[in-house]
Amino acid sequence: MVNRIPLIAGNWKMNLNISQSTALVKAIAEGIKGVSGVDVLVAPPFTNLYAVKQAIGKADIFLAAQNMHWEKEGAFTGEVSPQMLIDAGCTHVILGHSERRSLFKETDEMINSKVKAAHLTGLTPIVCIGETLAERENNWTFDVIRNQLKGSLKFFIEEGSLPKSIILAYEPVWAIGTGRTATPEQAQEIHLFIRNWIKDNFSKETADQIRILYGGSVKPDNSAALMSCPDIDGALVGGASLKPESFLGIIRF
Ligand code: PEP
Repeated sequence: MVNRIPLIAGNWKMNLNISQSTALVKAIAEGIKGVSGVDVLVAPPFTNLYAVKQAIGKADIFLAAQNMHWEKEGAFTGEVSPQMLIDAGCTHVILGHSERRSLFKETDEMINSKVKAAHLTGLTPIVCIGETLAERENNWTFDVIRNQLKGSLKFFIEEGSLPKSIILAYEPVWAIGTGRTATPEQAQEIHLFIRNWIKDNFSKETADQIRILYGGSVKPDNSAALMSCPDIDGALVGGASLKPESFLGIIRF
């Protein structure tokens, strides 16, 4: 039996200024004192990363960015490189979030380039996948998830191995920011499908160790049921990560 430490990750999206961000992370740091057996991560906007890192201090909170470019440097106006994120104090980066895919037209090929660059630079990618409502209603969920895994993790498929540190996040698009959560059964079904895909394409050992987060309207009152599913290893939380009470409520599931 493999013991995967659950990860509760807060995606703050384009919210909070520097003082709000530092106040929030300090409240989280205070609230997790004495809490064990769970990893905690926050993903503020780029401009707040360095200040949030300073506010984290010695607290056990990982810092992630919400996106990055795959190039090291150069004429890419408006973009941020993997090394810049490390300089700002990040250990992780969220890649392929459905808002990046739908609003900014990110493709699996672009996400694969980002995942590769993050990994080679020393950042842990949190790779998001998930189907839309129309895809679910057409019974395309498994095909969509399989194609996103194949496309976003192409670099590792070519390498023949997937580092066990890589984190996946299953986020059904119809559940993000809608208040509509996948039932634990619906989420577990897809998480198991993802884990089996990893086993078939890499190894059972890797599949047993990879953490797969669930994301989509996770709240304190539904987190315990989701987290009790055998293949759900934590949560990627949007709206409920912006208030200390609700984020801490999820951390204490
Ligand atoms: C997200 O943005 O990754 C997310 C899951 O948002 P929410 O929790 O608000 O649905």
